[in-house]
Amino acid sequence: MGNETIFVIEDERDIRELILFNLSREGYRVRDFASAEPALESLKSEKPDMILLDMMLPGIDGFETLRRIRMNGDTAAVPVIMVTARTDDADIVAALELGADDYICKPFSPRVLTARIRTRLRERQRMQSSAGGKTGSGSVSDEEEKILSAHGITLDPGRHETKLDGAVLDLSATEFSFLAFFLANPGRVFSRQRLIDAVHGNGYSVTDRSVDVQILSLRKKLGPVGDCIETVRGVGYRFREDPQA
Ligand code: CA
Repeated sequence: MGNETIFVIEDERDIRELILFNLSREGYRVRDFASAEPALESLKSEKPDMILLDMMLPGIDGFETLRRIRMNGDTAAVPVIMVTARTDDADIVAALELGADDYICKPFSPRVLTARIRTRLRERQRMQSSAGGKTGSGSVSDEEEKILSAHGITLDPGRHETKLDGAVLDLSATEFSFLAFFLANPGRVFSRQRLIDAVHGNGYSVTDRSVDVQILSLRKKLGPVGDCIETVRGVGYRFREDPQA
């Protein structure tokens, strides 16, 4: 593992130290914060490779912190894993809608946590090194950094940028990965599990519901062309081929 930097924002000291201990042992460089304010301040001058963010924090809470991270162009693409004691689906869905890439519920096993982080960082590395659109162990292998386009959408993996009719879209890292996968595989139907595998790598466990939430959000952001992501009942999703392409 390289020397990736991970910001840990967690107010409970025991948990913070547990995370710190385990991540340091894995070779990560960790900066820990007991509240969001100093972390947001540090983000102005430093860009970590990942952020672990507790949902319930004193002061600025996890949701608001996430919102600010996503609103800021410099940090918008940094992967964020929410750490939460809440098991309420509504909170988790809200976090995913706000652009969290993943979540983990307390109490968690340190091994599961580090495995998730490794997966995420690998995914990010793949995005950066192999043209982004290539999302995982999917059917698309090592292509060059090629701009993908259809339905007025252009996606530039190298710049990690998506535009719709020339206007830049603000997508989360996961939405970007889904869209890249769709653009690279038009006309084919994919199950939710297949999409998860494509974006996260095989064996990764995410609920179907969270895929639906991401797709819903992606469609919304695509506005008038959002319906090019079709729901195939009982199966999954298909990205409609562009008759013009
Ligand atoms: Ca907390």
